[in-house]
Amino acid sequence: MSGSIVWFRRDLRLADNPALLAAAKRGGPVVCLFVWAPEEEGDWAPGAASRWWLHQSLTQLDASLRRRGSQLTLRRGPTIEAIQDVLRTTGCDAVFWNRVYEPDTIQRDAMVKRRLREAGIQAESFNGSLLVEPWEVLTGQGRPYQVFTPFWKACAARLPPEPPQPAPANLPGPPMQPDSLDVSEFGLEPTIDWAGGLRAAWTPGEEGARAALDAFLSSGLPAYADSRNRPDLPSTSRLSPHLHFGEISIRSVWHAVQGHSQTRRGERLDENIRVFCSELGWREFGHHLLYHFPFTCDSPLREEFRQFFWRSDRERLRAWQQGRTGYPIVDAGMRELWQTGWMHNRVRMIAASFLVKHLLISWTEGARWFWDTLVDADLANNTLGWQWTAGCGADAAPYFRVFNPILQGKKFDPEGGYVRRWVPELRNVPTPFIHCPWELPLQQRVQAGVYLGENYPSPLVEHGAARAEALEAWAAIKK
Ligand code: FAD
Repeated sequence: MSGSIVWFRRDLRLADNPALLAAAKRGGPVVCLFVWAPEEEGDWAPGAASRWWLHQSLTQLDASLRRRGSQLTLRRGPTIEAIQDVLRTTGCDAVFWNRVYEPDTIQRDAMVKRRLREAGIQAESFNGSLLVEPWEVLTGQGRPYQVFTPFWKACAARLPPEPPQPAPANLPGPPMQPDSLDVSEFGLEPTIDWAGGLRAAWTPGEEGARAALDAFLSSGLPAYADSRNRPDLPSTSRLSPHLHFGEISIRSVWHAVQGHSQTRRGERLDENIRVFCSELGWREFGHHLLYHFPFTCDSPLREEFRQFFWRSDRERLRAWQQGRTGYPIVDAGMRELWQTGWMHNRVRMIAASFLVKHLLISWTEGARWFWDTLVDADLANNTLGWQWTAGCGADAAPYFRVFNPILQGKKFDPEGGYVRRWVPELRNVPTPFIHCPWELPLQQRVQAGVYLGENYPSPLVEHGAARAEALEAWAAIKK
């Protein structure tokens, strides 16, 4: 019997899924398979928040498949053995999947493809997650771009992407579905339930992704260009975990947003669309960079930063992780992250900058913490974000530009609503002091219920002194 296995990975959706469409088009039974093999992802197996999300997303995917008369077969790795076993028991003779562009996965997938083809099995991979393939966008000299603007201009020449395809109408299964584990057997959910904040904040799965996109089109997009840097406003799409797990395709997002301009044209809306799509461009940039420079998830792209003197200070690292630095905007961000598994982009930049420049703790420590706590933890985007902030990556913020967390707070959270939400002990601090409560005269501080060093920490470091030290450390590697 000829039939096809669709090996699901970072494409947990039925709509606009090239591998699934190829299998459906080929005809014959379609077996939908997911293999849990974290050891094959090297040092970057999914962190705790990602594992929580994956559990929910697999559950949703299985439910969607069952509504179409199919189901998700769950197996444990090694992947090649799991696939071979399902091929044997179902008699399928083809395996289709969508590409993931991370170093360990690329190597594993190449091995899987080779072994399957050697055994006479049709093995094909597709682009299901990027607007343009990384090897298609190169400079005139055939090298990868390291500056965003020319990169994005070169991508634009290949856009728009193909229109998204609907989910296959029919997914005939094999006469007998292969054995499957239950998703709970992967042990993805925490044993002690800390995930209440995540449950309250998110709806993982394809339907949740579509709902997030629809909500953004109607309320976020019309003000995106002006508001996207405001963590106190619900201004961004919050699509990042859905995009990471492939619950919605990048092409669907692209076309939905671009299509919006045709129905409600206007100069301002077009500007919002342009700015939003360029953020999708940063995602693209991150993925292309990681593909071309696979070492960057662990070491800096810019070589001189390998000599940088980072401090090892467990106590300060812990204070940063727990949102106890004494800088309200940093603490608000770190607590939002802990409770919801997500942090606003502007605050990610401020909090990351504080770790690497005010505390002189390596960006790799920050990247690891984000990896474990973000529901959208994504090797390409996380690496890009941290190396950009630390000044050691492509098109990065210069190291000497040290974010001032007080001014950043005043500019992007002008009423202090974001800080009050996540740092409730500062709730009653008057707005002019919300980003610098230590400057509030003692009597007013007491009235606001703030006892520095008791219910809210004094600043871990003084901004001016920390900035001077960071610049000194930078000058040392510049020599
Ligand atoms: P929107 O503003 O609605 O943007 C839409 C989409 O564009 C996002 O979902 C995301 O896929 C992409 N995007 C937006 N900004 C960026 C960016 N700066 N870089 C790359 N892609 C972007 N993003 C992740 O998806 N995973 C990570 O692990 C991650 N780690 C980061 C670490 C640091 C230190 C920094 C500074 C940024 C990081 N980002 C990461 C990028 C960015 O913060 C998030 O993508 C964004 O906050 C997600 O929120 P949103 O979906 O509402 O974004």
